[in-house]
Amino acid sequence: MNNPVATMPHPLSDRINSLPVSETLAMAAKGRELKEQGKDIISLSLGEPDFNTPDFIKDAAIQAVNDNYNSYSPVNGYADLREAICRKFKRDNNLDYNINQIVVSTGAKQSIANVAMVLLNPGDEVILPAPYWVSYSAISILAEAKYIEIPSSIDTDFKITPEQLEAAITPKTKMIFFNSPNNPSGTVYTESEYRALAKVLEKHPQIYILSDEIYEHINYGAPSFSFAAIESMFDRTITVNGIAKAFAMTGWRIGYLGAPEWIAKACNKLQGQITSGANCIAQRATITALDAPVSKIQYMIDEFKVRRDLVLDLLGKIEGIKTNVAKGAFYVFPDVSYYFGKTIDGTKVKNASDFSMLLLEKANVATVTGDAFGAPDCIRISYAASQENLKEAVRRIAAVLA
Ligand code: GLU
Repeated sequence: MNNPVATMPHPLSDRINSLPVSETLAMAAKGRELKEQGKDIISLSLGEPDFNTPDFIKDAAIQAVNDNYNSYSPVNGYADLREAICRKFKRDNNLDYNINQIVVSTGAKQSIANVAMVLLNPGDEVILPAPYWVSYSAISILAEAKYIEIPSSIDTDFKITPEQLEAAITPKTKMIFFNSPNNPSGTVYTESEYRALAKVLEKHPQIYILSDEIYEHINYGAPSFSFAAIESMFDRTITVNGIAKAFAMTGWRIGYLGAPEWIAKACNKLQGQITSGANCIAQRATITALDAPVSKIQYMIDEFKVRRDLVLDLLGKIEGIKTNVAKGAFYVFPDVSYYFGKTIDGTKVKNASDFSMLLLEKANVATVTGDAFGAPDCIRISYAASQENLKEAVRRIAAVLA
């Protein structure tokens, strides 16, 4: 029988139709799918620590289950967790938030989406220093805002200048996404660089700063700095963080923010209609994670540094791959534009997406194209993988490019 409904176009909303897929998650899914088909894929696409969650945090979660934490938590998170977050902000970032300024969410990604939804109106402009994490642009699209990219390149360590920031600002600018240590470049801004950017923002009081500090502990140089630690910025900054990267807890899905109280209140209202709050067991475990001294996770940071050095050393031996020294996070972001226009192993490489696809198909190594991050000359390699896999991945890449 002819079923007319089956042949009708699916009436999805314009909102979802205009939303790009998350390239990081899509590439991870593709790698998984190929693995299931029996291919020997080395996945360097997803930014996810390959360590296990530390036992002392797992024990806290088990205790929470046994203590019957099974009901809804307050929408903005348990009060004692928000107290622990305030302690963490004070200890690590010298920020004085009170618990009414804190909202706990289902991952830092939701914290960011909450802020975009409560602050942005259609037509507002959002500044994205490129390269930027894939979901900043997508979330801006969802909020019907227009995003304005500020380009940077490997030659300037992927940093933007105060002059570039000034030039990107218009009367419609409402927010800037700032992310240091940076995903995908690993760039870490120094305190004086923060202050120079803040000087520009001081002249434009209508602009809010979303400071994504999720990689703060995965930092191999000077200690991280927070935008909100600049006095003139505190009342205009939303500080976003979470437990995923530092504590190897990506799947636990806990993120949080510290913000002016009126913004936190609005996020609480939005979240009350969307998720009712984050998972209660993961929230209890987060108290233990955040109260622990950073020395408890230092072994992971040390290992990431060894891997970074290894990957940079090996990539540096391949002709045409240009790298800089990433100072934090667990990504390197080489410029591969040398290969654009060349035919490699029978495949013409026009751009970074072709290059990344070539590596997947011919070297069985999954990476993410720089296009997804607003940097079309580069690809992202996550080195949150074992040293053995990293060596083998770079060996395969070199063999394909030779
Ligand atoms: N943030 C990680 C990444 O960039 C996890 C995936 C995602 O949420 O985009 O790979």
